[in-house]
Amino acid sequence: MNVSRQKMLLLAVAVSLLMSTASAQVSRTAPDLVPTGKGWGEAVEHSTGKAKPGGGANGISYHGGSVMTSGPNVYYIWYGNWAGNTAVTILTDLAQNIGGSPYFNINTSYYNGSSVHVPNHVAYSGSTTDSYSQGTSLSDAAIQTVVASAINSGRLPKDGNGVYFVLTSADVTASSGFCTQYCGWHTHGTISGTDIKYSFVGNPDRCPSACEQQTTGPNGNAGADGMASIIAHELEETATDPDLNAWYDQRGAENADKCAWTFGSTYQSSGALANMKLGTRDYLIQQNWVNASGGFCAKSW
Ligand SMILES: [Zn+2]
Repeated sequence: MNVSRQKMLLLAVAVSLLMSTASAQVSRTAPDLVPTGKGWGEAVEHSTGKAKPGGGANGISYHGGSVMTSGPNVYYIWYGNWAGNTAVTILTDLAQNIGGSPYFNINTSYYNGSSVHVPNHVAYSGSTTDSYSQGTSLSDAAIQTVVASAINSGRLPKDGNGVYFVLTSADVTASSGFCTQYCGWHTHGTISGTDIKYSFVGNPDRCPSACEQQTTGPNGNAGADGMASIIAHELEETATDPDLNAWYDQRGAENADKCAWTFGSTYQSSGALANMKLGTRDYLIQQNWVNASGGFCAKSW
Protein backbone atom coordinates (compact mmCIF):
# COMPACT_ATOMS: atom_id res chain seq x y z
CA MET A 1 0.00 0.00 0.00
CA ASN A 2 2.87 2.31 0.61
CA VAL A 3 5.37 0.93 -1.81
CA SER A 4 5.98 4.24 -3.50
CA ARG A 5 6.89 5.89 -0.22
CA GLN A 6 9.28 3.13 0.75
CA LYS A 7 10.91 3.36 -2.62
CA MET A 8 11.33 7.07 -2.21
CA LEU A 9 13.18 6.66 1.04
CA LEU A 10 15.32 3.75 -0.06
CA LEU A 11 16.24 5.23 -3.41
CA ALA A 12 17.91 8.08 -1.65
CA VAL A 13 20.32 5.67 0.01
CA ALA A 14 21.67 4.55 -3.32
CA VAL A 15 21.90 7.85 -5.11
CA SER A 16 23.60 9.63 -2.27
CA LEU A 17 26.68 7.43 -2.23
CA LEU A 18 29.61 9.59 -3.16
CA MET A 19 31.75 7.11 -5.04
CA SER A 20 35.45 7.63 -5.31
CA THR A 21 37.63 5.51 -7.57
CA ALA A 22 36.33 2.05 -6.91
CA SER A 23 39.40 0.05 -7.79
CA ALA A 24 41.68 1.98 -5.50
CA GLN A 25 39.98 1.05 -2.29
CA VAL A 26 38.82 -2.52 -2.53
CA SER A 27 41.02 -3.69 0.32
CA ARG A 28 39.95 -1.00 2.72
CA THR A 29 37.52 -1.56 5.51
CA ALA A 30 34.13 -0.27 4.55
CA PRO A 31 33.54 3.02 6.28
CA ASP A 32 30.30 3.85 7.95
CA LEU A 33 28.04 6.20 6.12
CA VAL A 34 27.13 9.26 8.11
CA PRO A 35 23.56 10.41 8.54
CA THR A 36 22.38 13.55 6.84
CA GLY A 37 19.40 13.76 9.12
CA LYS A 38 17.21 13.41 6.07
CA GLY A 39 16.85 9.67 6.34
CA TRP A 40 19.68 8.50 4.16
CA GLY A 41 23.42 8.30 4.46
CA GLU A 42 26.16 10.05 2.60
CA ALA A 43 29.41 8.22 2.30
CA VAL A 44 32.47 10.13 3.36
CA GLU A 45 34.65 7.48 1.76
CA HIS A 46 34.16 4.75 -0.78
CA SER A 47 32.14 1.79 0.44
CA THR A 48 33.23 -1.67 -0.67
CA GLY A 49 29.69 -2.89 -0.47
CA LYS A 50 30.71 -5.66 1.91
CA ALA A 51 29.30 -3.97 4.96
CA LYS A 52 26.52 -5.78 6.72
CA PRO A 53 23.41 -3.64 6.89
CA GLY A 54 23.40 -2.46 10.44
CA GLY A 55 26.68 -2.78 12.21
CA GLY A 56 27.16 -3.29 15.90
CA ALA A 57 25.74 -6.14 17.89
CA ASN A 58 22.28 -4.58 17.72
CA GLY A 59 22.40 -3.40 14.13
CA ILE A 60 23.31 0.18 15.01
CA SER A 61 26.61 1.63 16.23
CA TYR A 62 27.82 4.42 18.45
CA HIS A 63 30.21 6.89 16.80
CA GLY A 64 31.36 8.91 19.80
CA GLY A 65 29.12 11.96 19.68
CA SER A 66 26.67 13.35 22.17
CA VAL A 67 23.23 12.00 22.94
CA MET A 68 20.58 14.10 24.66
CA THR A 69 20.95 13.12 28.30
CA SER A 70 18.78 16.06 29.41
CA GLY A 71 15.49 16.87 27.83
CA PRO A 72 14.79 17.00 24.99
CA ASN A 73 12.77 20.15 25.41
CA VAL A 74 10.39 20.47 22.48
CA TYR A 75 9.60 23.82 20.88
CA TYR A 76 7.17 24.28 18.01
CA ILE A 77 7.37 27.01 15.41
CA TRP A 78 4.06 27.10 13.53
CA TYR A 79 5.12 28.44 10.17
CA GLY A 80 2.60 29.73 7.62
CA ASN A 81 -1.11 29.66 8.35
CA TRP A 82 -2.38 27.34 11.07
CA ALA A 83 -5.37 29.46 12.09
CA GLY A 84 -8.30 27.29 13.10
CA ASN A 85 -6.37 24.07 12.44
CA THR A 86 -6.80 21.32 15.02
CA ALA A 87 -3.17 20.36 14.35
CA VAL A 88 -2.12 22.80 17.03
CA THR A 89 -3.88 20.97 19.83
CA ILE A 90 -3.29 17.47 18.40
CA LEU A 91 0.47 17.95 18.08
CA THR A 92 0.88 19.92 21.30
CA ASP A 93 -0.81 17.02 23.08
CA LEU A 94 1.67 14.70 21.39
CA ALA A 95 4.66 16.66 22.68
CA GLN A 96 3.16 16.79 26.15
CA ASN A 97 2.51 13.06 26.36
CA ILE A 98 5.21 11.25 24.41
CA GLY A 99 7.74 11.58 27.24
CA GLY A 100 7.46 8.82 29.80
CA SER A 101 5.59 6.55 27.41
CA PRO A 102 6.50 2.92 26.68
CA TYR A 103 7.13 4.14 23.14
CA PHE A 104 9.69 6.82 23.99
CA ASN A 105 11.30 4.39 26.42
CA ILE A 106 12.89 2.72 23.38
CA ASN A 107 15.32 5.66 23.28
CA THR A 108 16.64 4.72 26.72
CA SER A 109 18.46 1.85 25.02
CA TYR A 110 20.88 4.48 23.63
CA TYR A 111 23.75 5.98 25.60
CA ASN A 112 26.88 8.07 25.32
CA GLY A 113 30.57 7.23 25.78
CA SER A 114 30.16 7.42 29.55
CA SER A 115 27.24 4.97 29.46
CA VAL A 116 24.76 7.71 30.34
CA HIS A 117 21.48 6.75 28.72
CA VAL A 118 18.87 8.92 27.05
CA PRO A 119 16.13 9.38 29.67
CA ASN A 120 12.49 8.63 29.04
CA HIS A 121 11.62 12.27 29.34
CA VAL A 122 10.38 14.95 26.94
CA ALA A 123 9.33 18.43 28.04
CA TYR A 124 7.04 20.44 25.81
CA SER A 125 8.52 23.88 26.41
CA GLY A 126 6.72 26.37 24.21
CA SER A 127 5.75 27.56 20.77
CA THR A 128 5.64 30.57 18.54
CA THR A 129 4.27 31.43 15.12
CA ASP A 130 5.92 32.68 11.95
CA SER A 131 3.69 34.17 9.27
CA TYR A 132 5.65 33.38 6.13
CA SER A 133 8.78 35.41 7.04
CA GLN A 134 10.76 33.36 4.49
CA GLY A 135 8.00 32.88 1.92
CA THR A 136 6.33 29.63 0.85
CA SER A 137 9.35 27.68 -0.48
CA LEU A 138 11.94 27.27 2.24
CA SER A 139 15.56 26.45 1.54
CA ASP A 140 17.48 24.59 4.22
CA ALA A 141 19.16 27.89 5.11
CA ALA A 142 15.80 29.64 5.37
CA ILE A 143 14.59 26.98 7.80
CA GLN A 144 17.57 27.66 10.06
CA THR A 145 16.80 31.36 9.73
CA VAL A 146 13.25 30.71 10.94
CA VAL A 147 14.66 29.00 14.03
CA ALA A 148 17.32 31.66 14.60
CA SER A 149 14.75 34.44 14.29
CA ALA A 150 12.49 32.83 16.86
CA ILE A 151 15.41 32.56 19.29
CA ASN A 152 17.13 35.85 18.60
CA SER A 153 13.86 37.80 18.86
CA GLY A 154 13.20 36.21 22.24
CA ARG A 155 10.01 34.50 21.08
CA LEU A 156 11.59 31.20 22.13
CA PRO A 157 14.45 30.67 24.58
CA LYS A 158 17.91 29.65 23.40
CA ASP A 159 18.14 26.09 24.66
CA GLY A 160 20.93 23.65 23.87
CA ASN A 161 18.72 20.87 25.19
CA GLY A 162 15.91 21.96 22.91
CA VAL A 163 14.58 20.46 19.69
CA TYR A 164 12.98 23.20 17.61
CA PHE A 165 10.39 21.94 15.13
CA VAL A 166 9.57 24.11 12.12
CA LEU A 167 6.06 22.91 11.24
CA THR A 168 4.87 24.25 7.92
CA SER A 169 1.29 24.59 6.71
CA ALA A 170 0.21 22.74 3.57
CA ASP A 171 0.78 25.76 1.32
CA VAL A 172 4.49 25.75 2.18
CA THR A 173 7.22 23.48 0.82
CA ALA A 174 10.90 22.91 1.53
CA SER A 175 12.92 23.27 -1.62
CA SER A 176 15.57 20.64 -0.88
CA GLY A 177 13.03 17.88 -1.39
CA PHE A 178 9.92 17.86 0.77
CA CYS A 179 7.49 15.29 -0.67
CA THR A 180 10.06 13.92 -3.12
CA GLN A 181 13.16 13.18 -1.01
CA TYR A 182 11.84 13.31 2.53
CA CYS A 183 8.83 14.08 4.71
CA GLY A 184 10.91 15.64 7.48
CA TRP A 185 14.47 15.92 8.69
CA HIS A 186 16.57 17.03 11.63
CA THR A 187 19.94 18.66 11.91
CA HIS A 188 21.83 21.09 14.12
CA GLY A 189 23.51 24.44 13.72
CA THR A 190 25.21 27.13 15.74
CA ILE A 191 22.81 29.93 16.60
CA SER A 192 24.19 32.78 18.70
CA GLY A 193 27.03 30.57 19.90
CA THR A 194 24.90 27.60 20.96
CA ASP A 195 24.56 24.24 19.21
CA ILE A 196 20.85 24.23 18.40
CA LYS A 197 19.03 21.09 17.30
CA TYR A 198 16.13 21.64 14.95
CA SER A 199 13.83 19.81 12.60
CA PHE A 200 11.64 20.47 9.60
CA VAL A 201 8.29 18.70 9.37
CA GLY A 202 5.96 19.67 6.55
CA ASN A 203 2.22 19.16 6.38
CA PRO A 204 1.80 15.89 4.46
CA ASP A 205 -1.61 16.99 3.23
CA ARG A 206 0.58 18.52 0.53
CA CYS A 207 1.55 15.05 -0.72
CA PRO A 208 -0.55 12.31 0.92
CA SER A 209 0.75 9.52 -1.30
CA ALA A 210 4.33 10.28 -0.30
CA CYS A 211 4.10 11.31 3.34
CA GLU A 212 0.80 10.08 4.82
CA GLN A 213 0.16 6.50 5.88
CA GLN A 214 -3.58 7.10 5.59
CA THR A 215 -5.79 9.89 4.31
CA THR A 216 -7.81 9.85 7.50
CA GLY A 217 -6.53 10.06 11.04
CA PRO A 218 -7.50 8.96 14.52
CA ASN A 219 -7.78 12.63 15.47
CA GLY A 220 -9.76 13.58 12.39
CA ASN A 221 -6.97 15.60 10.79
CA ALA A 222 -5.01 13.57 8.25
CA GLY A 223 -2.26 16.15 7.95
CA ALA A 224 -1.70 16.50 11.68
CA ASP A 225 -2.08 12.78 12.29
CA GLY A 226 0.54 12.18 9.62
CA MET A 227 2.83 14.79 11.12
CA ALA A 228 2.63 13.07 14.51
CA SER A 229 4.57 10.08 13.19
CA ILE A 230 7.15 12.27 11.47
CA ILE A 231 7.63 14.44 14.56
CA ALA A 232 8.15 11.32 16.66
CA HIS A 233 10.66 10.04 14.09
CA GLU A 234 12.71 13.24 14.15
CA LEU A 235 12.48 13.61 17.92
CA GLU A 236 13.85 10.16 18.65
CA GLU A 237 16.61 10.57 16.10
CA THR A 238 17.53 13.91 17.61
CA ALA A 239 17.57 12.44 21.11
CA THR A 240 19.97 9.68 20.10
CA ASP A 241 21.95 11.45 17.35
CA PRO A 242 21.60 15.20 17.91
CA ASP A 243 24.76 16.21 16.08
CA LEU A 244 24.67 13.41 13.47
CA ASN A 245 27.73 11.76 14.98
CA ALA A 246 26.39 9.37 17.62
CA TRP A 247 24.01 6.48 16.79
CA TYR A 248 23.50 5.27 13.22
CA ASP A 249 24.14 2.16 11.19
CA GLN A 250 26.54 1.45 8.35
CA ARG A 251 24.07 2.82 5.84
CA GLY A 252 23.80 6.08 7.77
CA ALA A 253 20.34 5.18 9.03
CA GLU A 254 19.47 6.49 12.49
CA ASN A 255 17.18 4.63 14.87
CA ALA A 256 13.84 5.78 13.44
CA ASP A 257 15.05 5.44 9.86
CA LYS A 258 15.44 1.72 10.43
CA CYS A 259 11.72 1.38 11.19
CA ALA A 260 10.23 4.09 8.97
CA TRP A 261 6.66 3.37 7.81
CA THR A 262 6.29 0.28 9.98
CA PHE A 263 3.59 0.43 12.63
CA GLY A 264 3.23 -3.00 14.24
CA SER A 265 -0.24 -4.02 15.33
CA THR A 266 -3.00 -1.47 14.79
CA TYR A 267 -6.59 -0.93 15.86
CA GLN A 268 -9.49 1.21 14.69
CA SER A 269 -10.02 4.65 16.17
CA SER A 270 -12.55 7.14 14.81
CA GLY A 271 -12.61 5.43 11.45
CA ALA A 272 -8.85 5.40 11.06
CA LEU A 273 -5.96 3.19 12.06
CA ALA A 274 -4.07 3.84 15.29
CA ASN A 275 -1.38 1.89 17.10
CA MET A 276 -0.81 3.66 20.41
CA LYS A 277 -2.43 5.95 22.94
CA LEU A 278 -0.45 8.87 24.35
CA GLY A 279 -2.33 10.91 26.92
CA THR A 280 -5.97 10.87 25.88
CA ARG A 281 -5.40 10.55 22.13
CA ASP A 282 -4.84 7.69 19.75
CA TYR A 283 -2.07 8.09 17.20
CA LEU A 284 -0.59 6.08 14.36
CA ILE A 285 3.15 6.46 14.94
CA GLN A 286 5.94 4.49 13.33
CA GLN A 287 7.97 2.00 15.30
CA ASN A 288 11.50 2.73 16.52
CA TRP A 289 14.67 0.63 16.69
CA VAL A 290 15.46 -1.00 20.01
CA ASN A 291 19.20 -1.00 20.69
CA ALA A 292 19.16 -4.26 22.67
CA SER A 293 18.64 -7.99 22.17
CA GLY A 294 20.12 -7.88 18.68
CA GLY A 295 18.05 -4.89 17.63
CA PHE A 296 14.46 -4.80 16.34
CA CYS A 297 11.62 -2.44 15.50
CA ALA A 298 9.01 -2.00 18.19
CA LYS A 299 6.44 0.44 19.48
CA SER A 300 7.37 -0.09 23.11
CA TRP A 301 10.25 -1.35 25.18
ZN1 LIG B 1 15.20 9.88 9.95
